[in-house]
Amino acid sequence: MNKKWDIIVAGGGLSGVAAAVAAARKDCSVLLIEKNGFLGGCATASLVTPMMKNNDAKGNPLNRGLYEEILKRLAKTGNSAKHPDGNPGWFNPEEMKFLLDRLCEENNVNLLFDTRLIGVKREDGHIKAINCINKGGVQQYGGDYYIDATGDADLAFYAGVPCDTGEHQSLTLRFNMDNVNIFKFSKWLIDIEPEMTFSSVEYGDCNTILLTTAHTSEDVGWKLRPYFRLAVRDGVIKPEDAEYFQIFTIPGQRNAIAFNCPRIYSQKPLDPLDPWDISYAYVQGRKQIKRLENFCKTYLPGFEGAYISQIAPCLGIRESRRIEGVNKLFEEDILESKKYKGAAASSNYPIDIHGNSKQGNELTELLKNDYYDIPIGSLIPQHVSNLMVVGKALSATFKAQSSARIQPNCIAMGESAGNYWAKRIKI
Ligand SMILES: Cc1cc2nc3c(=O)[nH]c(=O)nc-3n(C[C@H](O)[C@H](O)[C@H](O)COP(=O)(O)OP(=O)(O)OC[C@H]3O[C@@H](n4cnc5c(N)ncnc54)[C@H](O)[C@@H]3O)c2cc1C
Repeated sequence: MNKKWDIIVAGGGLSGVAAAVAAARKDCSVLLIEKNGFLGGCATASLVTPMMKNNDAKGNPLNRGLYEEILKRLAKTGNSAKHPDGNPGWFNPEEMKFLLDRLCEENNVNLLFDTRLIGVKREDGHIKAINCINKGGVQQYGGDYYIDATGDADLAFYAGVPCDTGEHQSLTLRFNMDNVNIFKFSKWLIDIEPEMTFSSVEYGDCNTILLTTAHTSEDVGWKLRPYFRLAVRDGVIKPEDAEYFQIFTIPGQRNAIAFNCPRIYSQKPLDPLDPWDISYAYVQGRKQIKRLENFCKTYLPGFEGAYISQIAPCLGIRESRRIEGVNKLFEEDILESKKYKGAAASSNYPIDIHGNSKQGNELTELLKNDYYDIPIGSLIPQHVSNLMVVGKALSATFKAQSSARIQPNCIAMGESAGNYWAKRIKI
C-alpha cells in the first residue's frame, strides 16, 4: 500500500477541492484523487456556470470562506463578476481550472489525476484503504480519514453506506458557443422584452455584458416562444429541444454563451448510475446540441457567425445517490428555515427540480429574507466511522437535495468536512 495520509479526498469537484484545501490549511497531509485530468467537477467538466445566488437578507453571502476566496481571486483577472442582483457567482469555467490547481499547489494538496476510485477496504465499520485504477494499474491508498466528494457517493456506496437512488432529475449535456455578437443579441433581447421579465441584460466594466434569457415548455409568456414555435414548424428543432432553454454570458469569455441545456430527451426516465443510460445521454445530447446550434444561428440575431466552441466533457448529473446520514435534510426543514448549531452550510436557494417529465418540474421559493442550515450530520454517513460525504450526495430527501446542491453550498460543505476531520486529527 502507498503512503498513509491524514485525509484522502475522493473527487476533485468544488466540494472535494474545498475539503482538501481546508484540511491542508490545518496542516493535514491530504491526497486528492480525481478521475478527470483537471479539477472542478460540474463547474468545469460539465460547464456549469454561474454559481447560484445564495445571499442573506442584507445581500451578504450566506457562506463565506473558500466560496468568497475563489470568486474574489477570479474577479481580479476579470474571470468572475457580480450581477447587480447581488450574485457574485458569474465565473469562467476554464479559468476556474487554473485557480483550483493553484489553490491545491499553494496548500500542498497532493493531486492524483486520471485516477478512479473503484473500491474500498473496510474492516469493522472503518475504512482502511481505497482501491483505485490509473496508469500505474490497480492501486491502494490508505488514510486515517476519508472524504467522499465524488458527487455520486461512490466511496460511501463501496463502503456499504445505505444510499437513496429512487428518483432522479433530468440529465443535461451543457455546451458553449463562441463568436456570438453579444451586443447585437442583447440589443435585440431588450427590443423584444423591454420589461425584462424573463431576461436580464446588464452592462458591466470592460465591455462585460451579464446576460441571461430562457424558454421552457410552460406557457408563461416567454418572449422567445414565437421563435421556438417557428423552429419546430420549420423542422430545425424538435419539440423536446424547446422544453428547457437557458443561456448565460461568461465573464472573461467576451463573445461566448453558456447553455444550461439541452435536457436529454428520452421516452423513459434516465438513470445517472446506469452505464447504458449514460451512454445514450451523451449521443442524444449531442444530437440536441446540433439542433440548438442551428436554432440559434437561424432565429437569434447576433448568432449568425457563432459556432459550438465546447461540449461538456462530462454529462451534467444533478443528483444520483444520496447517502443515509446521521442527520437527513428534509424539505420541511428547508421550508421552515430550520437552523443548526455548527452547520455545514447555510442556504436560501429554492427547491428546484428539473423533472424527468413536465409534471416533475418544481420551483418552490423559501421564506423571504430567511435561510436554512445544512447540518453537519447530513455529511456523516451511517455505519462508517472515518468517512464524510460532501457536496450533492449529502443525506437529504430528493426534494431537499434539489435546493442544497448548488455550488456555493457544495464549497461550504467541503470546507466544513475538511475542517471537521482536521480538528479530530489535531486533538
Ligand atoms: C446541468 C446542471 C446545471 C446546474 N446548474 C447550476 C447552477 O446554475 N448554479 C449552481 O450553483 N449549481 C448548479 N448545478 C449544481 C452544481 O453544479 C453541482 O451540484 C455541484 O457543482 C456539485 O459539486 P460536487 O463537488 O458535489 O460534485 P461534482 O462537481 O460532480 O464533483 C465530483 C468529482 O468527483 C469526480 N469523481 C466522480 N466519481 C469518481 C470516482 N469514482 N473516482 C474519482 N473521481 C470521481 C468527478 O470527476 C468530479 O470531478 C447544476 C448542476 C447540473 C448538473
